[in-house]
Amino acid sequence: MSRLVQVINSGSSSIKYQLLDISDPDRPVVWAAGLVEAIGEPGSRLVHRSRIGRGADSDFVESELTGSIPDHTAGFAAIGEAFAAAGPIEEVGELAAFGHRVVHGGDTFSAPALIDDAVIGAIEDCIPLAPLHNPANLAGIVGARAAYPDVAQVAVFDTAFHQTMPPAAYTYAIDRQIAADHRIRRYGFHGTSHAYVARQAVRQLHLDPTTAKVITLHLGNGASACAVSGGRSIDTSMGMTPLAGLVMGTRSGDIDPAIALHLQRVAGLTADDVDALLNMNSGMKGLAGANDLREIHTRSQAGDAAATLALEVYAHRIREYLGAYLVALGGADVIVFTAGVGENDHVIREMVCKDLAWLGVALDSDANARRSGDSRVVSRRGSPIAVMVVPTNEELEIALQTLEVLGG
Ligand code: AMP
Repeated sequence: MSRLVQVINSGSSSIKYQLLDISDPDRPVVWAAGLVEAIGEPGSRLVHRSRIGRGADSDFVESELTGSIPDHTAGFAAIGEAFAAAGPIEEVGELAAFGHRVVHGGDTFSAPALIDDAVIGAIEDCIPLAPLHNPANLAGIVGARAAYPDVAQVAVFDTAFHQTMPPAAYTYAIDRQIAADHRIRRYGFHGTSHAYVARQAVRQLHLDPTTAKVITLHLGNGASACAVSGGRSIDTSMGMTPLAGLVMGTRSGDIDPAIALHLQRVAGLTADDVDALLNMNSGMKGLAGANDLREIHTRSQAGDAAATLALEVYAHRIREYLGAYLVALGGADVIVFTAGVGENDHVIREMVCKDLAWLGVALDSDANARRSGDSRVVSRRGSPIAVMVVPTNEELEIALQTLEVLGG
């Protein structure tokens, strides 16, 4: 069986793709990557980067295709043209499958699924849970199927990894009937990232994967924490939607739910206003005026008190979840930092791990401050709980899960 997977992340007017050769899962090779933008809008275009040859050492060339791309099916046809012109594969038939990222699988999907009409129907049923994302993901699936009916298509869900949470962790304490009628419960997101970095950390530390206790901190523009026991998610900080939990670039994370009602009753905001406020103008942006942590650090160093407080709030919230998950897991073997902030921001890692030696978390300041793109341990030798930085790779995880569905 071919071990070439085209990973697709489809937005409402875009298709992001990566062609991965995972003949050797320890040494995946990106053969090509690209982005179709402004689908259905003026100025639609495709930028395609591909290797000249098929080896990991061959150089990339970039090509661009402009012209009308009215829908996602045309987007996939354009991607096919780019491959035909620039390589490194000539025929889509060389692919094992397309692996599609799908944001919300509700409680229907606890694993990736080979796409057929029934799976598409079940993803459609989850649209009320992710009204912006699922239709966009579906557009990619429908487009790829139409353009390449003979290639297998697999859906990989952001929520699926967390379906192992016990009811006590995923149940909200609201009227049970209302919750059931509207599918209100914790689902959790970033599942492919949490699964990937937890597994990598366990492998690197030679832990027993069936018993290892891992706390994963995915700190990107969106952020979430996860407690992983024996490879299974037992709790996570995002909820029914990605708004809950940690402080994020522009999302508030946890707040008293009555604040949303208060803003509507007292400040005259509509439900949509509150939605926009909490999702797009809160978090670090709301606290300090910028969503990028690099900018917040610069402002803090220049004496901006709001920026300093924002960093403290950010770290404080992570520590709350760290404490909760240490209790939920009954200790931990390793705490893993990943994504844009987690991988690059040693100051945040320092703030999160500060004064936790009593708990068994002893950061190695030098190792923590060293810049590297590699998966690495940043705690002191002998620290009872290891601390690691593990670069996430959601595309690779989607490709691996896609092959698993196909039995490869
Ligand atoms: P992601 O969503 O994983 O791509 O992460 C994006 C975020 O990572 C950005 O908005 C920044 O806040 C953060 N980030 C990226 N690079 C750095 C860095 N060198 N130091 C601190 N934060 C960073």
